[in-house]
Amino acid sequence: MFEGIIGHDFQKNILLRAAQDNLASHSYLFAGPDGIGKKMVAVEFAKLLNCGGALPGPAGKCVCASCRKIEKGIHPDVALVEFAGVKNIKVDQVRDEIEERLYLRPFEGRFKVVIVDESERMNQNAQSAFLKTLEEPPPGSVIILVTSRPDSLLPTLRSRCQTVEFSALPDDLVAGVLREQGGMSPEEALLASRLSGGSIGKALGFDGGLLEWRRELITRLGNIRKNSASDISSLTEHISSGASPDETERLELGFRFIMLWIRDLALARIGSGRITNTDFMESVNNEARKWDLKDLLEIERQAERAWYDIVRANANTKLVLDNLFIKLSVNSGMG
Ligand SMILES: [Zn+2]
Repeated sequence: MFEGIIGHDFQKNILLRAAQDNLASHSYLFAGPDGIGKKMVAVEFAKLLNCGGALPGPAGKCVCASCRKIEKGIHPDVALVEFAGVKNIKVDQVRDEIEERLYLRPFEGRFKVVIVDESERMNQNAQSAFLKTLEEPPPGSVIILVTSRPDSLLPTLRSRCQTVEFSALPDDLVAGVLREQGGMSPEEALLASRLSGGSIGKALGFDGGLLEWRRELITRLGNIRKNSASDISSLTEHISSGASPDETERLELGFRFIMLWIRDLALARIGSGRITNTDFMESVNNEARKWDLKDLLEIERQAERAWYDIVRANANTKLVLDNLFIKLSVNSGMG
């Protein structure tokens, strides 16, 4: 089991033992950074709980009827709840999407499993309503709350769950997979691993075009002139015309690279060796010298806010980006 999921051995062992010994908890909190496979582990755990006797098929995956249905997302007792595009999960959505499924009797499997991805998006009322379910879980049910922001969940909610902590996969592990599966050179693989924040899925999507796009972005960021309108608008233009055809994905990558750039400046400022943009060391060090650490941390906070405004509050992308680049240009060109 857990075929195709790399790393997280400790977590997989805990879950495997719980399933084998029939000691699964009623509720779990899978907490850890985005994009490292928490949701995939949850789905595999649901398979383990309901597996009809492992039948190894291609790629080592079990092909029993139950596991196949879960893999396809059509098992009647296993629900992966993803509130795609929903900013704020409200009480009635919790009732409709989560509780209704839980209180129906399992009709095929041994366990009814509900996986709630990005569960921190439940608003306070929704979380309070959900707490009641966690206090008196329906028999035979296993609820898995997946989150990258456990501190956005009510402490009372968290304390009802058995927490399984996930960490980002180590760079060298991710880089190894990228060399083998993605055919990247050792240098490309290490860079892609760091740029992706240890997410193999994301890093495998980093093709030559995207890396070139990022290289251009970092070059422009490193050469931005103080309050230069043309530098600023060309940076915004670069992000908007980016390497992915999907706008949200493009923006997400753009922001990710901008945030890593700002973080690198802060790290260089304090003399840390954990720089991501290792192919731009000179540029990072030059820029970092022009900044106070506290201003960099403030800009980092503003960049996070800008990302939130665009994705969750539907702010005007061009305005938000222009604003961010103006702030980033304030200390530039003075070196
Ligand atoms: Zn199976």
